[in-house]
Amino acid sequence: MESHAVCSEQKPHVVCVPYPAQGHINPMLKVAKLLHAKGFHVTFVNTIYNHNRLLRSRGPHALDGLPSFRFESIPDGLPETDVDATRDIPALCESTVKNCLTPFKELLRRINAGDDVPPVSCIVSDGCMTFTIDAAEELGIPEVLFRTTSACGFLAYLHFYRFIEKGLSPLKDVSCWTKEHLDTKIDWIPSMRNLRLKDIPSFIRATNPEDILLNFFVRESDRAKRASAIILNTFDDLEHDVIQYMQSILPPVYSIGPLHLLENRHIDKDSDMGRMGSNLWREETECLDWLDTKSRNSVVYINFGSLTVMSVKHLVEFAWGLAGSGKDFLWVIRPDLVVGEDAMVPSDFLKETAGRRMLASWCPQEKVLSHQAIGGFLTHSGWNSTLESLSSGVPMVCWPFFAEQQTNCKFCCDEWEVGMEIGGDVKREEVETVIRELMDGEKGKKMREKAEEWRRLAEEAVEHKLGSSNVNFETLVNKVLLG
Ligand code: UDP
Repeated sequence: MESHAVCSEQKPHVVCVPYPAQGHINPMLKVAKLLHAKGFHVTFVNTIYNHNRLLRSRGPHALDGLPSFRFESIPDGLPETDVDATRDIPALCESTVKNCLTPFKELLRRINAGDDVPPVSCIVSDGCMTFTIDAAEELGIPEVLFRTTSACGFLAYLHFYRFIEKGLSPLKDVSCWTKEHLDTKIDWIPSMRNLRLKDIPSFIRATNPEDILLNFFVRESDRAKRASAIILNTFDDLEHDVIQYMQSILPPVYSIGPLHLLENRHIDKDSDMGRMGSNLWREETECLDWLDTKSRNSVVYINFGSLTVMSVKHLVEFAWGLAGSGKDFLWVIRPDLVVGEDAMVPSDFLKETAGRRMLASWCPQEKVLSHQAIGGFLTHSGWNSTLESLSSGVPMVCWPFFAEQQTNCKFCCDEWEVGMEIGGDVKREEVETVIRELMDGEKGKKMREKAEEWRRLAEEAVEHKLGSSNVNFETLVNKVLLG
């Protein structure tokens, strides 16, 4: 399956730099594997903190690498503490901007000074790690930025500066962010229709001109213009208009997703490369055996990704809503899901749902979503989760938490017609009703049919030779990375 397309003596050498969070490392590893299959030597650069976490979650040899595929690490610049400092997103963003360029350049110098690997010939970096552009420009090599958001989310970030110009953000204090303000119509972003301010990535809701994340996203989006090309984990049929418009304001944009499907096409799952993974938590695979005992489309899957947190009150509302729905469910509850407390569900809830539920703290999500037993997904609308669900034909209930999840939710519900939103201050009755509708109702049925259409189109996008994402990936390699 793995084709080594480049056979020259000296391999091209790509350095891949993900932003240090689960939803960024996963898709970047897929890009790295695909480039390796094209004959690239790959250096994959995690932060030291995540490098060590991966060794803990996946075993001491998980990062030994493979021939022509090596792992390296650089510090994230955060102080070492007992708690996971990387969960403080503003601190992490601020730190990567300030502290990562020097160790990154030092790493490149060390790699290029050695004679055991080919010299670095290109960089593929996360779109939130644009300090790497300075290093690429210094070496005179191409730099491709990978924005791991949806195209619609990225386009909204690209317009953050306009929200500031128009006085829509920042506002004086939290009390100004009223429902009325959030309902402001946003009809001036080309190719995006029927938006309200509430659908724009949550980091727009700032109250201070110095707000770290507001400024971070303005800066990182602006710097994207300096890249040789931009890649997105989406596909043309899904976000055609947005991608088309983006082409007119940015360097070449290549949609190469869904990456997990492209990976399935090009990398043998049972090979050493196929088994190489990037989960920061230990995967609990028992849930797959449990799903094997369930009938088609009968199980609700609940997972809020790697960063969402909630109050214990909301956890309890979700629990009783699920209990009341009467449906079988698989619920992944990360140990750090609840703010400031252990993520514990009520014991009465456990008693009442015994026999029809499975709880886990982390699961192999791609396999879960493509399992025939899964009939619906209650999700935080993270982009990877959304794309994995869409391309498995699974309709969603969306409970967006932060970042561009608000935008993804809006597109899921209104444009792609595969989602229903539930309120931020979630109540058990609403969870119960919406889950019943998702699994058994008329709306649920329509959403499942629509999701099935998207699944088919996603598969077509990664088809050998003619699939749009496959063609784009080839062009990216030949024109930008080798060109
Ligand atoms: N994931 C997983 N197991 C879990 C939860 C999440 O493998 O129990 C993976 C999921 O498949 C996805 C990523 O972690 O690739 C989460 O990314 P997403 O963009 O959905 O959300 P984030 O964690 O960035 O909020």
